[in-house]
Amino acid sequence: MKYAQSVLDLIGNTPLIKLNHVTEGVKATVLVKLEYINPGGSIKDRIAVKMIEEAERTGKLLPGGTIVEPTSGNTGVGLALVAQQKGYKCIFVVPDKVGEDKRAVLQAYGAEVVVTPTSVAPDSPQSYYSVSDRLVTEIPGAYKPDQFSNPAAPGSHYETTGPEIWRDTDGTVTHCVIGAGTGGTITGTGRFLKEISADRPEADGGRVRIIGADPEGSVYSGGTGRPYFVEGVGEDMWPANYDKSVPDAVIAVTDADSFAMTRRLAREEGLLVGGSSGMAVVAALQVARDLPESAVVVVILPDSGRGYLAKIFNDQWMRSYGFLSGGEETSVGEVIK
Ligand code: PMP
Repeated sequence: MKYAQSVLDLIGNTPLIKLNHVTEGVKATVLVKLEYINPGGSIKDRIAVKMIEEAERTGKLLPGGTIVEPTSGNTGVGLALVAQQKGYKCIFVVPDKVGEDKRAVLQAYGAEVVVTPTSVAPDSPQSYYSVSDRLVTEIPGAYKPDQFSNPAAPGSHYETTGPEIWRDTDGTVTHCVIGAGTGGTITGTGRFLKEISADRPEADGGRVRIIGADPEGSVYSGGTGRPYFVEGVGEDMWPANYDKSVPDAVIAVTDADSFAMTRRLAREEGLLVGGSSGMAVVAALQVARDLPESAVVVVILPDSGRGYLAKIFNDQWMRSYGFLSGGEETSVGEVIK
């Protein structure tokens, strides 16, 4: 018989898939690592397991404890999934700008969602930061993982994501392209790949180059932190989990280019992924275009496109922000009367 003991056993060990259609003019092999295959639908399941297991090991989380985190996205889903399997309660604090759908997903996994007003200053007692801090002090046995500073987040990628890429490419990966939000993925995966390839001869590809992909405007690629539409990546401050010494280069990508590529990945490669995945592929192809046939470029695709159907995959939304230049419309069936 072949089965998993629980959903937790299905986290990680995601597949690598070769891109065949969006790679015109590229001689190098471009492989994507498909993180939506994780049970919670994103790469964040990996950090959820590791952050919770580390908190158990160090006694910060005791049986029956409560996890409190200000998050509305993929990290919330990962934490909710792991927490329920291990018998912990979850409370997520989300600003009211977060859509109903995202809150509903967290609630579907059994988590409690506390909604805070968006239009208050960060130091207001009603802000999302203040409310989560207050809940942690008020609830007995509460623990806040804090994905922006928790070393277990990059640690999980150092222990799983990086080694999987090395193993599945038989140690031939030459470049790894990764978008950064909290910085956990690029720091942990990048650190592992650079260390393991440190003494690889130049003839075999030399040390793996780590390329950051970043929304234009974010601080990682020299921006001011001005807003952009791609979700989950880029920052307006420097989180503790982003190690600046890891990326060899960071490439800025526009929203328009990120979204156009996200749509192409769905239509041409059969990969329905999110906007940060499209962004990373744009950066990867820019790098790959100048590389020889022997190069092996791995790109991490963090989540699924299902959460973006009303935005990136909606012509009206795309057009309203000027992201559709014409010709890329999703075909609409005629209504037969
Ligand atoms: N893409 C998406 C969709 C994400 O939710 C995140 C996490 N914020 C990332 C990319 C970036 O990952 P990290 O936080 O590890 O830098």
